[in-house]
Amino acid sequence: MASLLHFSQRTKDVKEWESPGEGCLPPCQPTPSPATFGALSQQVQKKVYIESYGCQMNVSDSEVVASILAQDGYTPVRTAEEADLVLLNTCSIREKAEYTVLQRINEMNNLKARNKGLKVGVLGCMAERMREDLLEKKRVVDLVVGPDAYRTLPELLEKVGTGQKAVNVLLSREETYAEIEPVRLDTNGVTAFVTIMRGCDNMCAFCVVPFTRGRERSRDAMSIVRECEQLVRDGYREVTLLGQNVDSYKWRTTEEPQAAGHGPRADHAVPAVQGPKPEGDSSVVDFADLLEKVARACPSLRIRYSTSHPKDMTDKVLAVMARHDNICKYIHLPVQSGSNEVLKRRNRGYTREWYLERVASIRRHMPDCAISTDIIAGFCGETEEDHQQTLSLIEAVDYDMAFMFKYSERPKTLAARKYLDDVPEEVKGHRLQEIIDRQKEKSAERLRGYVGQTHEVLLEGVSKRSAEHLFGRNSQNSIVIVPRLFNANGLKPGDLVKARITGSTAGSLQGEVVDALDLQPELA
Ligand code: SF4
Repeated sequence: MASLLHFSQRTKDVKEWESPGEGCLPPCQPTPSPATFGALSQQVQKKVYIESYGCQMNVSDSEVVASILAQDGYTPVRTAEEADLVLLNTCSIREKAEYTVLQRINEMNNLKARNKGLKVGVLGCMAERMREDLLEKKRVVDLVVGPDAYRTLPELLEKVGTGQKAVNVLLSREETYAEIEPVRLDTNGVTAFVTIMRGCDNMCAFCVVPFTRGRERSRDAMSIVRECEQLVRDGYREVTLLGQNVDSYKWRTTEEPQAAGHGPRADHAVPAVQGPKPEGDSSVVDFADLLEKVARACPSLRIRYSTSHPKDMTDKVLAVMARHDNICKYIHLPVQSGSNEVLKRRNRGYTREWYLERVASIRRHMPDCAISTDIIAGFCGETEEDHQQTLSLIEAVDYDMAFMFKYSERPKTLAARKYLDDVPEEVKGHRLQEIIDRQKEKSAERLRGYVGQTHEVLLEGVSKRSAEHLFGRNSQNSIVIVPRLFNANGLKPGDLVKARITGSTAGSLQGEVVDALDLQPELA
């Protein structure tokens, strides 16, 4: 799926509940790596501060924006106070997320009062959805730019420089920013995101994404492989391939006429490929093919992806995952509801039975694969019986983790036009709490099951609770806390270790390192 809901996995602005695991990143605060920061700041004077809200896709987009602006002479800075230009990359997935951003926009008035030359821009989904309101009612906003218009930022900023307001929220059927090399922001130097596709064609009844991010389009497969290879060269150890519905990724590669003195071939855009990949058509790269290409090209890179759609997830993808050790055994498979009636009204394109068969297939291919999900309580017309079906599905699947929300109506969506938001707030709240309680038990149970096992853990950072401990993730995406010291050496982020799991809490695992598999160069 792709509700962008699950994308909030590492940011905290739009979710109501997540496993209280240690080590999740705070709301995005751009902190460019010192190397990038230093190199750019020597060349340029203008300073940009980019704040990302909501999903991993927005984090990835902010890195594309930073790259476009670097060409225009901007260097990223770590606080809004230092900046000449503040950009808020926004999320519309829920009303609460928009409210948070609107509050932040108001705060910009104080900043502008202290820094008369400051310009403020709104990017992303809210830019697309609320452009008039933003420009007319929020006088502090100078610039409004939608997710497909970031290449026009330099010319829009020129206009803003003359004292005018500037806007471009045009959506595109082609834009994928394929060849733009992102400037990594807020990086831990270990994990990175790579966007493989944009937009969504699914039109789930509750979702605003197709309206704010436009039609689905896939990015050139070879540009994705090249970006992953570059990550390896830059010392990154894990990549998450991002798309609203990765299972519908499709790219056609064709031989271009060879120009004298130039490379042998290039991949270039051709009309979108509709439906499943034609049998035996080797010119079409589907998601399974792409995963395989990245796994082969970057054997030292751990690979994750987000998000799958239950209606499109194929056994071919599962077989590729099972075949490659460097593809993590973790799938985010949003179910949204356990009731067929509700799934139908939500226009999800599958039934409870279909979903459970997909889960069974994951377990057949990879018995050790973790599964997480998104659930929204209290959709239009949801009955107590529907709700009980969701609870029984949580029992049946045994999810490792879930992102759980109350339904909130979004303008323009099918649900807003067709259905009454008729489940009372207190009933929504009560049902959400029951879902959370049930899932919390399941998550704790799943984590307890790992105790005594040995897992490979990629270390990502220092534990929030103890400077003597590091946190990392196992293949199943569970947080694992280990002591920093191993064999009298200090471990560090980026090291891959083998850890025996010694204990669990509601949201994380404790372990002891039994082997250092792959240390970052200076320690190895
Ligand atoms: S329309 Fe459906 S599949 Fe597409 S982003 Fe929204 S919830 Fe995900």
